[in-house]
Amino acid sequence: MRQKTFLLPTLRDVPSDADVTSHQLMLRAGMMRQTAAGVYTYLPLAKRVIAKVETIVREELEAIDAQELTMPTLHPAELWQETGRWDKMGGELIRLKDRHGRDFALGPTHEEVITSIIRDSIASYKKLPLNVFQIQTKFRDERRPRFGLLRGREFIMKDAYSFHDTEESLDETYQAMYQAYERIFTRVGLTFRAVIADSGAMGGKDTFEFMALADVGEDTIAYSDSSSYAANIEMAAVASQALDSQAESKPMATSTVTAALTISEAAQQLEWPLSNTVQTVAVKLDEDIALILLRADHELNEVKSMHELHVKSFTILSDQEIEEAFNVEPSLLSVFDAKEHRIIADQSIKGLTGVLLNSSVKDECAIQVDLARDLEINQYADLRLVQEGDASPDGQGTIQFARGIEIGQVFKLGTFYSESMGATYLDQNGRANPYKMGCYGIGISRTVAAIIEQHNDENGIVWPVSVAPFDLHLLTLNSKNEEQAALSEKLYVSLKESGWDVLYDDRPERAGVKFKDADLIGMPLRISVGKRASEGFVEVKVRSTGDSQDIHVDDLAEAIQ
Ligand code: ATP
Ligand code: MG
Ligand code: MG
Ligand code: MG
Repeated sequence: MRQKTFLLPTLRDVPSDADVTSHQLMLRAGMMRQTAAGVYTYLPLAKRVIAKVETIVREELEAIDAQELTMPTLHPAELWQETGRWDKMGGELIRLKDRHGRDFALGPTHEEVITSIIRDSIASYKKLPLNVFQIQTKFRDERRPRFGLLRGREFIMKDAYSFHDTEESLDETYQAMYQAYERIFTRVGLTFRAVIADSGAMGGKDTFEFMALADVGEDTIAYSDSSSYAANIEMAAVASQALDSQAESKPMATSTVTAALTISEAAQQLEWPLSNTVQTVAVKLDEDIALILLRADHELNEVKSMHELHVKSFTILSDQEIEEAFNVEPSLLSVFDAKEHRIIADQSIKGLTGVLLNSSVKDECAIQVDLARDLEINQYADLRLVQEGDASPDGQGTIQFARGIEIGQVFKLGTFYSESMGATYLDQNGRANPYKMGCYGIGISRTVAAIIEQHNDENGIVWPVSVAPFDLHLLTLNSKNEEQAALSEKLYVSLKESGWDVLYDDRPERAGVKFKDADLIGMPLRISVGKRASEGFVEVKVRSTGDSQDIHVDDLAEAIQ
């Protein structure tokens, strides 16, 4: 590709509206531009990276016999009404009407669509299991789209859905998908952890989130420093219990308060400085969504720093009051982080569970609160605390915290969708049974941003070879010099002929400009044709190490292979 005519609008300065590295670098490296809040145009450089990630995803999924299809982005409301999610999705679902006034939504996920297709397409257990996937644009009207591709309102997702007659069959595909995800995220160059996650309200059971480790991540992972145990902090306490086979209902021993307490009493027992670290507590009680909130003195949306916070009292708020105080839909709210101004956990937290989050700047910890249905509103049965340095749930090592970006999730859905939509197959005895289902997502565009979060230096992006937009960046340092121009042209043709993907900087720019851009956009190898062109020498530089060497063109093929 000749850079002279390649749409690559690099920027020298850090854009003021971007505050995380990947967002800044994608704008500066001419990879994308914002079209609306949380809506981006992927320019050619980004498109090439996305294509490489997608290819890796396709290869690994096809290797385990998943089949690609494409479902519509425009979904009739009727499908979503069948599962009740037309109402449950709240403001996140982007809704529209056609010219006849019929309701539609832009697909945020495709369980309803695929279940309706399979309901009408498969009749017998003999056709099972089935595993299908698509790579497609998804729409979610996120309350706070931010951080560029990390949280968009329009983004690219790979979503897969599997259908089974037995639990064993579901488990087999679930494991195969889990392993495919490990291969995918390894191949794209990410450092990640699979963490136990909350299966939420959708009737599911097992689920893991894949987290790319990065300080900008919105999730906190609690992991053991000497075993494979890792959990989303929302789940750390619950998961630890499940791993301990002895303790069906016994919470973690080191940090348990078993008496029914008010939250302030519990905080006192835990010696928490309630006045300046705990911002908000919300406990979802049941369908009527009563909440217990620990209110701060200040208006929550004016809170600037931790120290300005002084907790006054508990208040029980009505839906309307919640809406007014927090500017969020109550059905979406169970925990709201006043400092970050975002929902930490939404309704996916199980019906009667709340999370108390203490996000003091230094040491972050969370309390998981389990409510018993018949307790008084401001009491709860037991309280489990997970903190850095705690012993581990599996008896090995101590708990550490890290930040993570959720790049993917595997999920055993069970029969929620098939039952609510009447999707059944006939078993060996000719009886109709609902399918057991799994679903599996990967945020493709978010993965690209996560890769940049992990692979950059002060000069720009440092692409892992597997997803680099081009393998090679060929630079003519002085395009007015005939010898340099001729050698560059010759190299461009021969490198391409030998199968290299080459970006060729043939622009009439100064060498300094070209070097800066080359570092910024970060191709793994840079070949510069400069002063020594007359002797047949070019400079080969490795972006990741900075190592450079003058190499004769006759030896180039061997040197870079
Ligand atoms: P999050 O917790 O970050 O809101 P999610 O759990 O709602 O994500 P899923 O429904 O599990 O997301 O969707 C599958 C994948 O799609 C996620 O693991 C994530 O990588 C990606 N994804 C979800 N929401 C967004 C978004 N707003 N922008 C970019 N990628 C997203
Ligand atoms: Mg979400
Ligand atoms: Mg999530
Ligand atoms: Mg998820």
